[in-house]
Amino acid sequence: MAEVADVQVTWRVPVHELLDMLNRRILTLFKCIRGRRLKTYRNVSTSWSPVGAAFNARPRRKADLFGKNVGLFGVHELSSPVGFQVAQENALKETEQLVDQACRTSPGPQIVQIFDRLSDCLCRVADLADFVKVAHPDPSFREAAEITCMTIGTAVEKLNTNIELCNSLKNLLNDKEALDSLDPETRRVVNLNVQMLDLNNSFLLGTHLPNKIDQNAIPEHIHHYFSMEKDHIHINGLHADASDDLVREAAYKIFLYPNPEMLHCLDQLLACRNQLAHLVGYESFAHRALKGTMAKDPETVMHFLTKLSEKLSKRTEKDFCMMQEMKKKINPKCCELMPWDHPYYSGVLRAERFNIEPSLYSPFFSLGACMDGLNLLFTQLLGVSLYVEEPEKGEVWSDDVRKLAVVDEAAGLVGYIYCDFFHRSDKPHQDCHFTIRGGRLLENGEYQLPVVVLMLSLPHPTKSSPTLLTPGMMENLFHEMGHAMHSMLGRTRYQHVTGTRCPTDFAEVPSILMEYFASDYRVVKQFARHYQTGQPLPQNMVSRLCESKKVCAAADLQLQIFYSVLDQIYHGKYPLLKSTTEILKETQEKFYGLPYVPNTAWQLRFSHLVGYGAKYYSYLMSRAVASMVWKQCFMKDPLNRAVGERYRREMLAHGGGKVPMFMVEDMLQKKPSMDDFVDALVSDLDLNFETFFMDSE
Ligand SMILES: [Zn+2]
Repeated sequence: MAEVADVQVTWRVPVHELLDMLNRRILTLFKCIRGRRLKTYRNVSTSWSPVGAAFNARPRRKADLFGKNVGLFGVHELSSPVGFQVAQENALKETEQLVDQACRTSPGPQIVQIFDRLSDCLCRVADLADFVKVAHPDPSFREAAEITCMTIGTAVEKLNTNIELCNSLKNLLNDKEALDSLDPETRRVVNLNVQMLDLNNSFLLGTHLPNKIDQNAIPEHIHHYFSMEKDHIHINGLHADASDDLVREAAYKIFLYPNPEMLHCLDQLLACRNQLAHLVGYESFAHRALKGTMAKDPETVMHFLTKLSEKLSKRTEKDFCMMQEMKKKINPKCCELMPWDHPYYSGVLRAERFNIEPSLYSPFFSLGACMDGLNLLFTQLLGVSLYVEEPEKGEVWSDDVRKLAVVDEAAGLVGYIYCDFFHRSDKPHQDCHFTIRGGRLLENGEYQLPVVVLMLSLPHPTKSSPTLLTPGMMENLFHEMGHAMHSMLGRTRYQHVTGTRCPTDFAEVPSILMEYFASDYRVVKQFARHYQTGQPLPQNMVSRLCESKKVCAAADLQLQIFYSVLDQIYHGKYPLLKSTTEILKETQEKFYGLPYVPNTAWQLRFSHLVGYGAKYYSYLMSRAVASMVWKQCFMKDPLNRAVGERYRREMLAHGGGKVPMFMVEDMLQKKPSMDDFVDALVSDLDLNFETFFMDSE
């Protein structure tokens, strides 16, 4: 299938969406830091490759007193916190020039290019600052970055109301009638956008607020599970893992007790989103949000979710039965399975059946071993290798950040990954991929190399051992490296569609695919060696780990379907036919199976409604695609270079610059049906009988 050129895709984007593009917080960085000579790290252990050795070594304090401070990410202004102001002023000056240029340029593809540069110019500062304000250990850097974020934010708001700029974009559209009505409309859109930002913030804040209750309302013997303030008990979560049924029940009923203000806030948020969507010509918010995605429209999403739910129902029922029996066994008095039981009893069942002890695995998963594994995999499959490069003075924000150069065997350097892997106080405890600078074709024909940061929160190495990863941490590392490679190998013309800047329901495909590699023994055996003895990880330990993930997995999937359907209905046809709580109750009964509990409103804790409005299904759909790609392309031989190259060419290279479904079809070399999507997810739950028999021997 022919590729749809970036420029055409962008051209079809209406004015408001182009303005959105500016508004979007996309991480990019400004100074080109390519072309430095590669240096390899001093090899501290003979048993690992240079990459593995570097990650298993303890970070060294650098005592370079006289070297020149090159600034964060090699951006010389950022050698000190005041540099943010300089960088920000430069960006605003450049923005002014670009806006001027945009207003003077006659309609044509050049306008699109100017807009991409405009977006690049603002984002590379604002989003670098966005990263620094959460990750830098020095408070003065964080504060300076915070101010820059706000200043650029205000500038973007102003741009959004710049009529002249709108006009220049508007001229791109041929529809005369639409043009005439655009100005007041654009203003209204901006106003609604601002209103929506406020509502988003209030809702998001509210989803995390604790609920309090008079201490006498709760049996005294469970008081110590919760925090107390005077004579009130504060409940700030579901306590889903508590072993006492009563604790979970109390937490569930109190934490989810409906707050009238929040109910109102959600109603307003949904109304505002709908209004905005209508104003720019869509039937509903979901229709607007799903434009350009793999699913394309809400009908397809609902079709996918309904079909998946049907195919899953028997397995889900079985899972709930097992949980129910377990509950009865442990607590014969109360036996009906309730929503607060699901996470706890599935955990009990998993432990009973497989008893996976993470500490037995982690000596085989030293960080260096895992990085070795990733390097081997990428080299064999994609022809790109990782090289540890010594950062220059001032280039990184913490001594333990490692810099990786990603080098293609034919094309040479393709980008940089900064690995901020270790735990620090003040650092957000969340695995994350940040695009610091997006790849794009420069005016002089060269390619601006992508720069990303991978942030994890791993334990530090100790005197006696390197950092050892649990199986979960290892899988996360592979997942995040999947995002990083998506960014590294993207070769789009524009930065606003590069790498992970693609439709939400496609964005997780490369990262989830890496999880399949991480659980295949042919891949794992290449790197999982005991850090002391060099012994390989036994095959049956890997198989048991894989099988353990399937325990109650149907019920877990069912819960995700329920959330996704709820999100679709809330953002679908407006006005809603019933209250959000009544819709929750109905959807829960139809798509989940465990009873709704009166006087609860789980939707008020559904924080993803803000960031993933109408797109919560994305993760399920990405997983379905990753599963199809794994089974049809890689499962036979996960290290096959020809298939790896096809994957790179058909999927990774395009970012958001190609219709996502075409990428899937070109990779699979066929057009998958809805049944294929659904079957891919369901068949992942099938037990592997070989492991089963191996286990019972
Ligand atoms: Zn991800």
